[in-house]
Amino acid sequence: MSVPRLKRTGSKPNVGIVHLGPGAFFRAFNAVYTDDAIKQGDKDWGILAVSLRSPTAKDQLDPQDGAFTSVTLGAGQTEYRVINSISGVLVAPEDPEAVLSKMADPAVKIVSLTITEKGYCHEPATGELQLDHSDIAHDLANPEAPKSAIGFIVEALARRRAAAVAPFTVMPCDNIPSNGTLAKGMVLAFAKERESALAAWIEENCAFPSTMVDRITPATTPADVKSLEKAQGYHDPACVQHEPFRQWVIEDNFVNGERPQWEAGGAQFVADVDAHELMKLRCLNGTHSTLAYLGYLAGFETIAETVAEPAFAELCKRIWRDEIIPTVPKPEGEDLEAYCDALLERYQNPSIRHRTWQIAMDGSQKLPQRLLGTIADNIQAGREYTCLALAVAGWIRYVGGVDENGDRIEVKDPLADKLKAAIDGANTPAAKVQAVLSMKEVFDPSLSSNPDFVARVTEAYEGLLQNGALAVVKS
Ligand code: NAD
Repeated sequence: MSVPRLKRTGSKPNVGIVHLGPGAFFRAFNAVYTDDAIKQGDKDWGILAVSLRSPTAKDQLDPQDGAFTSVTLGAGQTEYRVINSISGVLVAPEDPEAVLSKMADPAVKIVSLTITEKGYCHEPATGELQLDHSDIAHDLANPEAPKSAIGFIVEALARRRAAAVAPFTVMPCDNIPSNGTLAKGMVLAFAKERESALAAWIEENCAFPSTMVDRITPATTPADVKSLEKAQGYHDPACVQHEPFRQWVIEDNFVNGERPQWEAGGAQFVADVDAHELMKLRCLNGTHSTLAYLGYLAGFETIAETVAEPAFAELCKRIWRDEIIPTVPKPEGEDLEAYCDALLERYQNPSIRHRTWQIAMDGSQKLPQRLLGTIADNIQAGREYTCLALAVAGWIRYVGGVDENGDRIEVKDPLADKLKAAIDGANTPAAKVQAVLSMKEVFDPSLSSNPDFVARVTEAYEGLLQNGALAVVKS
């Protein structure tokens, strides 16, 4: 017997937000908070979800009129909620003009983004716009039919300026420090290449709030869709599973102050997000990446399986205590020790199948903000960073592309080919480490030229090659 498809009930909210990058996290986070706000009466903040890449989100959501199921996996308890904040879905490569005309619509007040780190087209080590990035070069040559998020934003802002319409707020929700400042820098650098007066207008009138976002959200699998069918009796390929915890800290900086009442879902609006973001990037994302590389190498499929091994749980506790917390200024209202204790409990939630392979993705874009800044601060303060050096060595071992059984690792990273060539082109472990550390896209030269850092990463890398990740972590 075929299972019926989820169908929307009730009307669609008017579109006030265009969201770029409607992946799993957007559905588990932005769409849920916005649904909370709409339920409280904010009717004009419906979301137009725009994929800049594949048609998957549209194929999944259109037959359901934008509705989808958010599945909260608590310890021993699962909750299902249908989310109705998405009013439509577009696929940019199919019709860039439709996307631009919606972004230029005066009713749209916010453009939010979850496009992954690489979607900003910046150099991770320096934060500069990559003018030679193929999408950026394309968009500068074809501003009216862009491919990149930055190209879409600038063209839509140019159209609003020409029509004397106020700009929208650009609100990035990716795991990047000062993500609003980064997005602003990329938009202005791109706009300057087009027309300096456009860049000046954006700088003066547009707002780029930084945000800290937190809710662990694994990629949805066919098994997740099946288990929803079993539990609820309908088919919903757009469903998303996530943990109960959620935290959203937003810089209260919106064009004309116009935004939904995301407080309805518990969002915190603050003057400065940076301290919260640093805490989250270093404590959560730093250990997530550490567990992803070393856990994958040790043969664990998920984060929960990795920290079920006591040596890995101990590794987390030790990194937090000795190597991360000392580098993090305490954000107002937070207790760093309690925050990290709670993190370990979140990692241990066995219902959340967050794959080490998924978190390991795009390491070249993630390492600077998750691990390298913490290491640099420890070096400057003369503090310990052995475990963080091991995490970097784990990444180098991982991007070599061969696991501890000699099987191929499917390395997903914009620099995957370059990394593999660097590693394969060197003969000794020390030379392999050196070849990777000399990549300026990832490593600031002041760090990669530090002899103590090089020595520690090399020693850890040799240990991983000789003894394997589990034995190294145990020791
Ligand atoms: P996902 O793979 O489900 O979705 C990624 C989205 O980004 C897709 O819509 C994809 O088309 C788009 N994208 C990828 N590369 C792009 C590019 N170069 N330009 C434009 N768009 C691009 O991943 P996700 O779980 O939704 O995570 C997305 C981002 O959300 C992460 O990179 C992270 O910054 C943030 N985030 C995720 C989590 C989580 O637990 N999954 C938690 C906090 C923050």
